[in-house]
Amino acid sequence: MTSKEAARILKINSLDMEQPMGTGLLRTPTFLDRDSTGMTFKWQPNSNSKNTEILIRPSLAILFAGLKDVADTEIIRVAQRWGALGIADDGWPPEVLHGWAGDPWRETFSAWRLFAGRLQDLITLAAEFNRLKAGPKKDYISRGISQLMNLMAQRFKLAPRFRWDENHAQWEIAFDGFAISNLPALLIVQMMLIVGDKNGFAFCSNCKVAYPVTRKPAFTRRSFCPKAACRRAELRDYQRAARKNRREAKRLREQGLSVGEIATQMAAKPSTVKRWIKE
Ligand SMILES: [Zn+2]
Repeated sequence: MTSKEAARILKINSLDMEQPMGTGLLRTPTFLDRDSTGMTFKWQPNSNSKNTEILIRPSLAILFAGLKDVADTEIIRVAQRWGALGIADDGWPPEVLHGWAGDPWRETFSAWRLFAGRLQDLITLAAEFNRLKAGPKKDYISRGISQLMNLMAQRFKLAPRFRWDENHAQWEIAFDGFAISNLPALLIVQMMLIVGDKNGFAFCSNCKVAYPVTRKPAFTRRSFCPKAACRRAELRDYQRAARKNRREAKRLREQGLSVGEIATQMAAKPSTVKRWIKE
């Protein structure tokens, strides 16, 4: 796919979301016809594609992973916005690729779910990896992650090309090694960035689902995903821990320990201990 065919400029963000970098262009369909098992992408011939800058956060890969468990209509909505994945019924790119001529292109919902399932597997493995202490099981999981990640990179012909984009006066990483779409390559790169980040994925202590960690756990060593119910669980968790700390600090104080001794024993700051004793 050439940049002229493309309808959208994608930006791949660094994880701190401060320094976005341009990627190759992505072509979104003019029409999308649905049938009972899939959708057909159509592009208007000779249409004047408008280049729109879209900022993609790494969470796009998370969104695609989530498509494993959604209704067909949600898959259509995402496909309309982001375009085709260029996949056959097994969720991998077809062995033989016909030249790109703007022909209608069909992909099944089950193929999208297979593709999404692989991203979901990576997320689950990465969360498991982060949870485990160093040892044989952690080694085993790490090999599983690299194998799946590298297999996806190979099959989707992830071949970054670094170039200067004159129109936008910025460096760009293009992923146009594959004829149908840049999208899978982009999602794989995003997944590499998220899994490779030091925070990576964690299992939510409340709903037990793996989620990308965007901030350090504030109060406790337990971690919670951004869902409202799980945030409420986090607050309860914090309040429970705070009550426990207050009880323990008061108990030690009654035993005659000084604030400094309590602080050492409870691995807390003396000022915090003072607050616990007062409350
Ligand atoms: Zn949760």
